[in-house]
Amino acid sequence: MELIFEISKPGRNAADVTASDVPAVNIEDAIGKKYLRTDLDLPEVAEVDLVRHYTNLSRRNFGVDLGFYPLGSCTMKYNPKVNENVAVLPGFTGLHPYADDESAQGNLQLMYEMQKYLSNIFGMAEFTLQPAAGAHGELTGIMMIKKYFEKKNEKRPLILIPDTAHGTNPASGALCGFETVTLRSNSEGGVDIDHLMSLMTKDVAGLMLTNPNTLGLFERNIEKVAQIVHGKGGLLYGDGANANAFLGKARPGDLGFDVIQLNLHKTFSTPHGGGGPGSGPVGVCAKLVNYLPVPRIIKTGHSYSWSGKFPDTIGRIRSFYGNFNVVVKAYTYIRSLGAEGLTHATEMAVLNANYIKEKLKPYFDLPYDRVCMHECVFSGKRQVAQNGVHTTDIAKRLIDFGYHPPTIYFPLIVPEAIMIEPTETESKETLDTFCDAMIAIANEAKENPQRVKDAPLTTPVSRLDEVLAARKPDVCWKRS
Ligand SMILES: *Cc1c(COP(=O)(O)O)cnc(C)c1O
Repeated sequence: MELIFEISKPGRNAADVTASDVPAVNIEDAIGKKYLRTDLDLPEVAEVDLVRHYTNLSRRNFGVDLGFYPLGSCTMKYNPKVNENVAVLPGFTGLHPYADDESAQGNLQLMYEMQKYLSNIFGMAEFTLQPAAGAHGELTGIMMIKKYFEKKNEKRPLILIPDTAHGTNPASGALCGFETVTLRSNSEGGVDIDHLMSLMTKDVAGLMLTNPNTLGLFERNIEKVAQIVHGKGGLLYGDGANANAFLGKARPGDLGFDVIQLNLHKTFSTPHGGGGPGSGPVGVCAKLVNYLPVPRIIKTGHSYSWSGKFPDTIGRIRSFYGNFNVVVKAYTYIRSLGAEGLTHATEMAVLNANYIKEKLKPYFDLPYDRVCMHECVFSGKRQVAQNGVHTTDIAKRLIDFGYHPPTIYFPLIVPEAIMIEPTETESKETLDTFCDAMIAIANEAKENPQRVKDAPLTTPVSRLDEVLAARKPDVCWKRS
């Protein structure tokens, strides 16, 4: 595709500006010559070419609104358009961040209610909406754990993290100055209880656990795990990015978690990807409430206000009040589904994942053959052994069938991992055609492996050097 600069022709334009009816000002006098750019090299194109250029560019992208996007761990569920309609109401978008509390009552009420809803759904004492994404929420949670032990005058330099954890977990622990210790999984894909017992000492601040874990499996021994951690005075941190698997079914607070982060941009259906804005609220149990970030919303009678007067707070962790518009979308989602709708969403997400698991089981290795939660993890080991077709080849071939590939090579404990998360919004027909494509690729890997290794065959470019593209992105263009 040509760049917009390449289709530019001098003198063409897409705007028709009428002559000004106010006296002209000498711009050099008004601004100063040294501030005026004369080398501005802007593309000049007609409106129709402009529209076609960007429409064609957008067609080279892939999103949930275009097709099935089973990217495991990322919960790429459909984002209902009503969320967008509500988030763009002028009362939400037009309010100045420095507006005084009195003129922001409606927005403060929404945030206050959102905190209450989340506390209710997840069984926590209190929530903050400040963190900008999941990893930022983890950092916030771990900072509170650190402060909690500082206040108690306990030196606990270690934090336990299972070998199935998302990479952001050890990163968050390390950023807070903890040394991370890897906790092994057992043959069922859960926490190895013996290993936990041997590691859990008075030097350990806590355990960061994802439940269901990144294998899509619910931790059957969760109460025992909580008991062991609490027994040594530690705290149990919950990575709640997989909350889509248990809404209305289980509450982390009831399971023994002391602090959790959520990913509104996953579970609560707000758009994400490409580094766009997220929201990672953090919920805490009663003994951590005083450490929450400030400012916090206070309700007095019928009015809402911000307060910073909490001496034990970890402080402010983001400018202003978090990604407010993402919160509005998630709030709309909760209000439009209600308790029954959220529970139903979880049931369908789990059903869909198990449907795919059962349908593809004859064709791909399934290392942990248990009922899964909202996602299932296969291994491409069989295809490697047969004809040297790797998981990456299978993922690339799926693009030719019109699908976004699943997450691959994660979690790390599954060789050649293929992690499929269908989400609740997909119909049986979509799941069936996706499974047909996966089965066709499994057969192709046997009969015509080279075709799979050459994929994708239908895209403008085929295999890119993904490492080079990330490390040394070539995004500059020079006019020849
Ligand atoms: C997505 C995810 C995260 C990180 O969330 P971000 O919003 O991308 O920072 C952490 N843990 C798990 C299990 C996740 O799936």
